[in-house]
Amino acid sequence: MDKKYLIVGNWKMNGTPSQSSVLIEELVQRVNGGHFSEKLSLAICPPFTSLERAASLLKNSPIALGAQNLYCEPEGAFTGEISPPMLRDLGVGYVIIGHSERRSIFQESNGLIHRKIKAAQEHRLTPILCVGETLAERESGQAESVIGGQIRSALEGIGDRNLVIAYEPVWAIGTGKTATPEMAQEIHAFIRNLLEQQFSKEGLAMHILYGGSMKPNNAAELLRQPDINGGLIGGASLVAGDFMAIGQAVE
Ligand code: PEP
Repeated sequence: MDKKYLIVGNWKMNGTPSQSSVLIEELVQRVNGGHFSEKLSLAICPPFTSLERAASLLKNSPIALGAQNLYCEPEGAFTGEISPPMLRDLGVGYVIIGHSERRSIFQESNGLIHRKIKAAQEHRLTPILCVGETLAERESGQAESVIGGQIRSALEGIGDRNLVIAYEPVWAIGTGKTATPEMAQEIHAFIRNLLEQQFSKEGLAMHILYGGSMKPNNAAELLRQPDINGGLIGGASLVAGDFMAIGQAVE
């Protein structure tokens, strides 16, 4: 099977709409001027407030648009939330769900994450489900049981394979510490197996991204692992040259 790759930038809470425009213009210039593998897809997830400008600047470019969160109801009395149809209407295709910062800072539960996955798929948005263990969980030998639990509860009863998984060890996010390629591959193979159990053969072709301090200098080695289909990039996605260099690490 020909392996496909997806590199996604998670901008987090960075960039006013004007700042976002500058970065997107540079990304578009670089993607038009550079050479990229045909196996690669690219997406960026700016803050909600930059999505409308991003959609217009990315029109006719190969860079897809994603959001960093959504709420699981289509409309109603949910002050401060953003619904799947609102994102669809802006031209958003991907949505990050269950990022560790949302789990830890905003107390998002596996139950809520499950409802968000369903809502995204019902509105033809592709969820990027984030899973990963803390350092204490890894050190006590619980990485697989934690990740297995997160995936089983998020995907309970889900048959739609319009879905991307991002393995993001919590201890590697924004810390400069990266899982070794072997460590990451071991967890990706474990996740692949869970996807195969749930989606049969189709699970073999699903994207499993690695996230956690992926940078131009470590991307190629991580991306070479058989079950790593790309990256979810935080810090390095805010520097156009670095983000594109990670894309160019796909051979
Ligand atoms: C992330 O937050 O999704 C992430 C991977 O961040 P960083 O690349 O900065 O570790």
